[in-house]
Amino acid sequence: MATYNPYENMLHILDKAAEVLGYEKKDYEFVRYPERELTVSIPIVMDNGDIQVFSGYRVHHNTARGAAKGGIRFHPESDENEVKALAAWMTIKNAIGNIPYGGAKGGIKVDPRKLSERELQRLTRAYVRRIFPIIGVDQDVPAPDVNTNGQIMAWIADEYAALSGTWQPGIVTGKPLSIGGSLGRNEATGRGLTYTLETWCEKNNLKINELTMLVQGFGNVGSVGALLMHRKGVKITTIGDINGTWQNPNGLDIEAMYIYANSHGRSLKGYTEEGATMIPDSELFAQKVDVIFAAAMENQINENTMKKVQARLILEGANGPTTEEADNYFEEKGIEVLPDVMSNVGGVVGSYFEWVQNRTGYYWTEEEYNEKLKKKMNQGYEDVWAMKEKYHVTYRLACYMLALQRVVEAQKTRGFLG
Ligand code: NAD
Repeated sequence: MATYNPYENMLHILDKAAEVLGYEKKDYEFVRYPERELTVSIPIVMDNGDIQVFSGYRVHHNTARGAAKGGIRFHPESDENEVKALAAWMTIKNAIGNIPYGGAKGGIKVDPRKLSERELQRLTRAYVRRIFPIIGVDQDVPAPDVNTNGQIMAWIADEYAALSGTWQPGIVTGKPLSIGGSLGRNEATGRGLTYTLETWCEKNNLKINELTMLVQGFGNVGSVGALLMHRKGVKITTIGDINGTWQNPNGLDIEAMYIYANSHGRSLKGYTEEGATMIPDSELFAQKVDVIFAAAMENQINENTMKKVQARLILEGANGPTTEEADNYFEEKGIEVLPDVMSNVGGVVGSYFEWVQNRTGYYWTEEEYNEKLKKKMNQGYEDVWAMKEKYHVTYRLACYMLALQRVVEAQKTRGFLG
């Protein structure tokens, strides 16, 4: 298999979107390049006294529409290309959500499971010191991503306060409630995905409670999304996480799995259920279900796995789970893909709501938050739908076209240097 470069993948779709819109290269070339890429080395003292140096990244892809915004992930395979692609997807996503942000992403190449809590805190704080010059409430606002959580966001906010001399909760989102987090934020991505699936059902005259589903990934996005969809009546027969794949043809007990994962560090390791069996991980995508809910990592549905798919819909909860090759294959086969940049936008819309509350100092109820989230999700879907219908393109291409239009318009209005 050719080396997978997610940034190249993003560029191919962007170029295609520009072509359908009739743009010339000069109209949009600036979007093909990240505005700023920072690579940092982060030395920290380990608990045993050794010094270990980690690599970290923060990329601002485009800020035409507002401050850079995007999560930070801690992962052993994190690298420049991955972070660059993730930052670009944030530009697209924030434009589709129509929120006043550009796109950014950050990462540290580390397996956080191998660090103690104190080491993790030292690493997080040292990373903030390294990226301090390019973050700020109106400059770049980080958030959680894979293997980062509210506690890590709290350390980021605290370190930023120490460095700047002011407590600015809006410097980072996804914080715990006790320090300016928002009711509803934790569930926002999974809830948004549920709204997206509901709208897709409406567009296809289907009933959500008649759908069957398999889920890959049972972390923040996968577990909350699966729980809320299960509560809407979706029958989830198969779930895979990093520890294995569980199957119950009568429907897994999602409430029990949710409680188990959340009391075992978001892991299903050791979970058992009457009527459920473990199947090989390689069989996950081959299950005969209506919907694949991909909520683990990028590059999971690729040339090796795509031909196994029997579902009629891929709901992307993760960022970039479907490779370009698989996307093209699904288009040929008539399998629809609800792309990440539209369907998981609830996470960043939820972050935006938290940032708005931080900046106004006025906090909303969970009902207000969810109601506003629903409106934003529905509006995003309808805007993409209008583009898709007008140009007869896939959801993904329609997303890129809509976002490109919005980014180009903002940049043109602001003017170009030179
Ligand atoms: P998480 O760390 O909470 O969960 C990741 C899950 O994926 C875990 O259950 C893990 O076991 C599983 N997983 C990892 N590798 C796997 C593999 N090879 N096979 C099967 N399962 C595997 O992360 P998260 O916050 O839920 O994020 C998941 C995805 O969603 C990422 O792509 C992230 O960028 C994206 N995302 C997250 C948010 C958010 O608000 N957290 C918002 C938008 C997009």
